[in-house]
Amino acid sequence: MAAEDAARWHRSLKAPTVETFDLLSDEETFNDGANVGGVTRERDALSEESEGENDEDSQLSFWEEALNAEEEAGELFDNDGACTLEEALAFRKRLRVVGEDCFLAETVEAGTISAKKLCTAFGIRPPFFLEGQEDEAFYPLLGLGICRELQKRVKLPQYNTVDDAVSLLKKSRNIIVLTGAGISTSLGIPDFRSKGTGLYSQLENLGLSDPQEVFDISLFREDPSIFYSVAKDILPSSKKFSPTHSFIRLLQDQSRLLTNFTQNIDNLEGHAGILPEKLIQCHGSFATATCIECGYNVECAKIYHDLKAGKVARCDRCIQQIRQVKPGSKRKRSSNGSSGSRKRRQSYEDSTDDEDDDIAVAGVMKPDITFFGEDLPKRFHDRLLEHDRDLVDLVLVIGTSLKVAPVSEVVGVLPPSVPQLYISREPCSHVEFDIDMLGNCDTIVTELCRRAGWDLQHEMIAENSSIDVQLQEGYESRFSFKIVDT
Ligand SMILES: [Zn+2]
Repeated sequence: MAAEDAARWHRSLKAPTVETFDLLSDEETFNDGANVGGVTRERDALSEESEGENDEDSQLSFWEEALNAEEEAGELFDNDGACTLEEALAFRKRLRVVGEDCFLAETVEAGTISAKKLCTAFGIRPPFFLEGQEDEAFYPLLGLGICRELQKRVKLPQYNTVDDAVSLLKKSRNIIVLTGAGISTSLGIPDFRSKGTGLYSQLENLGLSDPQEVFDISLFREDPSIFYSVAKDILPSSKKFSPTHSFIRLLQDQSRLLTNFTQNIDNLEGHAGILPEKLIQCHGSFATATCIECGYNVECAKIYHDLKAGKVARCDRCIQQIRQVKPGSKRKRSSNGSSGSRKRRQSYEDSTDDEDDDIAVAGVMKPDITFFGEDLPKRFHDRLLEHDRDLVDLVLVIGTSLKVAPVSEVVGVLPPSVPQLYISREPCSHVEFDIDMLGNCDTIVTELCRRAGWDLQHEMIAENSSIDVQLQEGYESRFSFKIVDT
């Protein structure tokens, strides 16, 4: 589109000025120059990939790809032919003000902007396979983008201050608390996802191309020894819990807790006394283990010694059955299957000595933590959709950046009229919360309880310190919390 056209649609639209935090919560994310060029590289990669496979399936996945471009929206807005961040914000706001029909009438139908360019305002990267096509070809994609935008939760204007958060806590009787690694880091438990300090950095020493492979279910089936070699390091050893765990327990004691969905596998919620019926461990836990062959389920205590020793635990039931079928005889592990292109697998097989031969064909026990490529526990979906969704009156997200699906989608499936509060170190840019409270989780919940007049007791809460709360510049509902020693 010519520059004067661009100027024309921009004028004619008379878009109101918008506060950048109003629709997209974190401006820095979108202006981050460090990632410029990423889109182009990815697009090139996509083009190469597409050569020779133009069937419908691959095209479908590219549509999804285009729709999911929003995560890297910063790159999107910096591209030629795309809306700028300011334009995107104005379009989004305009859509909500005038509605879809009127919005389309004054934009693409009036010819003030192409559908292709307007797609970028809704975080959609124009897919390469539509390159050079008539503008009509972009209409379906634009429709999807508009639909998605209208379904998004918008911040409730009536809740802004820390005291608003406190009064919400005090009047709510069915609170969903969604927690992540951030509530356990004050205890020295490694955060899975932080670079440098996180567990993944430790795992890099194993020589895996992607440390996440340790939790990949297909790799586990191929060679469980990789997981078992690090299991002892991630096995929860602490029964201590943090002030934030105590805070959740306090909500339960006051009959305010509906459900605690946790992404953590350290089971500290259990140690803090959260009742099993109120706790959903979204990524499972180390409490039990299951045979990957026959489904035999045991308490993890049964395989604890193997886990601690870094030895692959085998299924007792499988072993028994094998011995019953061929009493007294030993069976060699079959050598077919995916033979050792991986060094690790090779060494794993080499280490299988004769003594273990009959055990070697028995199923491997896998702790019931959820691996990549596995479904979340059924209880998660049932509880969320068939129980909590109709009851919840407040959502508290604590210590998670909500980056891992499908847990990250919990906030999106709840009624948008239910207030949502955010407590964590860093702001979360892809979800719009009503009040953001940033800092150490323990510090923040301590201050909230003090203001609510609740007696939160925990040995880690220092009695002679006060907490400083500051409104962040440029925001109406984002606060930072710091301990000040007195
Ligand atoms: Zn078994």
